[in-house]
Amino acid sequence: LFDRAELAPADPILGLTEAFNADTRPEKVNLGVGVYLGEDGKLPLMAAVRSAEERVTQQHKPKAYLGIDGMPAYRDAVRALIFGADSAALADGRIATVQTLGGTGALKVGADLLHQLSPEATVLISDPSWENHRALFTRAGFTVDAYRYYDAEAKGIDVDGMLEDLRAAAEGTVVVLHACCHNPTGYDLTGEQWDAVIDVLRERGLVPFLDMAYQGFGFGIAEDGAVVTKFIDSGLNFLLSTSYSKSFSLYGERIGSLSVVLGSAEEAKKVLSQLKIVVRTNYSNPPTEGAALVTTVLTDPELRQSWEDELGSMRERIKTLRQGLVDALAARGISDMGFIAEQLGMFSYSGLTKDQMIALRTEHGVYGLDSGRMCVAALNTGNLDYVADAIASVRGA
Ligand code: PMP
Repeated sequence: LFDRAELAPADPILGLTEAFNADTRPEKVNLGVGVYLGEDGKLPLMAAVRSAEERVTQQHKPKAYLGIDGMPAYRDAVRALIFGADSAALADGRIATVQTLGGTGALKVGADLLHQLSPEATVLISDPSWENHRALFTRAGFTVDAYRYYDAEAKGIDVDGMLEDLRAAAEGTVVVLHACCHNPTGYDLTGEQWDAVIDVLRERGLVPFLDMAYQGFGFGIAEDGAVVTKFIDSGLNFLLSTSYSKSFSLYGERIGSLSVVLGSAEEAKKVLSQLKIVVRTNYSNPPTEGAALVTTVLTDPELRQSWEDELGSMRERIKTLRQGLVDALAARGISDMGFIAEQLGMFSYSGLTKDQMIALRTEHGVYGLDSGRMCVAALNTGNLDYVADAIASVRGA
């Protein structure tokens, strides 16, 4: 049996971290995986999360199973965060929510639900998209295609191409959309462009699946979440995955949520019952720790303020790093990469070629994706000049 298993290629993102870890050069820099690192090059434990952890530990609660759909207080807290505490759709009971294993778990639970309901549907992802979108929806049994998104020439979004591709999609097609801080390009739709996309989704009877893994990293919690309100106001049914890996720096806790917004409480009840089957037959029920931490932070006014403030300084620091990289490159004679400062979120789509990315890795120990994606949130004042030197070297400046 097991001789049928072929050796699969390493994961395009996490495989890079394995290669990075094996690299013995002390000056190496990992800009591959999407992780925010502090000025000391280390993963931060946010102050609010630390306080929450102390409180949770002091309670010495026994480790009971959670319900299939997760911790009720967690669901309430994140639903208030995402949809607003006074959301009419919430009050109407039109939203089915489950706690999930990070954003990836939310996407997979959503994908399994959709496949159960509509196995013949095609899934459209952006071109390009987070590498795991295609793999995950393909594994869930879907045919996955792409809609135009990145405009390499203009360094922005090909909105006309995107709308054209969505208009050409068959009714019932699932459309995966990045709610904010598009991964990998760092280019987001404007409010007006979202309105145009929503119009086409409605006209064509498409099924939107919003993926929000970076709320707070673009302009702020409320600002980045505004797109969700747009979808609620549109009256469309849609799926929404969220992740607290990045915004709470809780990567290893695997904490996120999946919500499905529906037309009636009755529909939401049925959909929730189906979501529970997906969860029950995969991992039965989610873990407690991440949910307890996020709930404690979100429901304590002081901790919540501290969290928003710290997230705000992370966001601002990334912007400073972007500008720092642009300036350092300009000082080395590279003046055509100013767009790095315009992009949003953790990533920069650098425009470097695959060969240049490979040279960065092999010659300089600077690890980014072959697509040119680099995680600027892993830069610091100690490695920025080194990275700029390396880029200048592979660019031949
Ligand atoms: N969606 C996007 C667009 C992402 O970038 C990521 C994380 N890299 C995820 C989902 C998954 O998040 P998590 O790590 O919480 O599973």
